[in-house]
Amino acid sequence: DEAAHDGLKWKYHDPETLEDASWKLSMLSQLDDAVDKGEVWVAYQPKLDLQTRRIVGAEALARWTHPEKGPIAASEFIAAAEQHDRIGKLTDFVLESAIKSAAALNRKDPGFGMAVNLSARLLGDKGFVLRLRAMLARHGLAPHLLTLELTETAALAGNGSAFDMLAALRELGVTIAIDDYGTGLSTLDYLKKIPASEIKIDQSFVKGMLDNRSDLVMVQSTIALAHSLERKVVAEGVEDQTVLDALVDMKCDVAQGYVIGRPMSLESLTKRLAGSRRSSVA
Ligand code: C2E
Ligand code: MG
Ligand code: MG
Ligand code: MG
Repeated sequence: DEAAHDGLKWKYHDPETLEDASWKLSMLSQLDDAVDKGEVWVAYQPKLDLQTRRIVGAEALARWTHPEKGPIAASEFIAAAEQHDRIGKLTDFVLESAIKSAAALNRKDPGFGMAVNLSARLLGDKGFVLRLRAMLARHGLAPHLLTLELTETAALAGNGSAFDMLAALRELGVTIAIDDYGTGLSTLDYLKKIPASEIKIDQSFVKGMLDNRSDLVMVQSTIALAHSLERKVVAEGVEDQTVLDALVDMKCDVAQGYVIGRPMSLESLTKRLAGSRRSSVA
């Protein structure tokens, strides 16, 4: 199985039942079609600026509502698509939708930012930067308002062409973020080398940080480290108000999580933003 030969994918190498394996294959063969048939859509989760207490942006998250199976978890179809190099079409769809939405939201909320997750695999796709530039131009979105979130930064290590593409993306003016920081194979070396202006602390540290001293220390020291390197810090997985308040005290810049808002339709996000404009508090 491919996962066994890919050192970066070891965490997905769980024993699979035959049924799991055949569903995975059938799911993969349906994914591109699902995009064309409109079964795939994009949910938007708000990002809260902890200083101004305003919603300053959103993260685009892929959703697949299968006609028979119902909603399929993003972690499930994305991991499979990445492993089998089928992530390209989905990414283009999510990017196009997110950029279009961001351009629309910017008409009423100038400066509203949009984040899209980018599989490190796409950093080997030579046409990607050009397609992205064309998408931004087509919808009239300023490049700096688009953030590309990268996980598996280890995949970039020693990969010269991936670094070149990151440099080209920076040149284009888009913002780069390191996602799920603190998990997997993220190290201080990658933090130094990757031209990211934003670091997202993984939710596994944030969720229970008030009940677990080592999680709290991880969050605190990541904020300190990021700020010393002049990077912005985003905390993900903020599920309750006490954690949110603590993050404000800790000078974290931005927060994302269920207590602020779950991933929602563009329509719901638009309403939420209109509401917070009226009350001028998020
Ligand atoms: P991620 O980029 O780290 O996104 C955050 C995930 O945490 C999302 O799960 C979100 O729904 C969930 N989440 C947000 N706030 C909370 C919270 O307070 N508590 C808890 N328990 N969870 C929270 P989701 O949408 O299932 O996505 C899972 C992962 O799939 C994402 O993790 C991202 O790595 C990947 N993904 C999603 N959409 C895309 C995409 O379009 N392209 C790529 N390459 N990856 C994607
Ligand atoms: Mg993300
Ligand atoms: Mg994350
Ligand atoms: Mg994640």
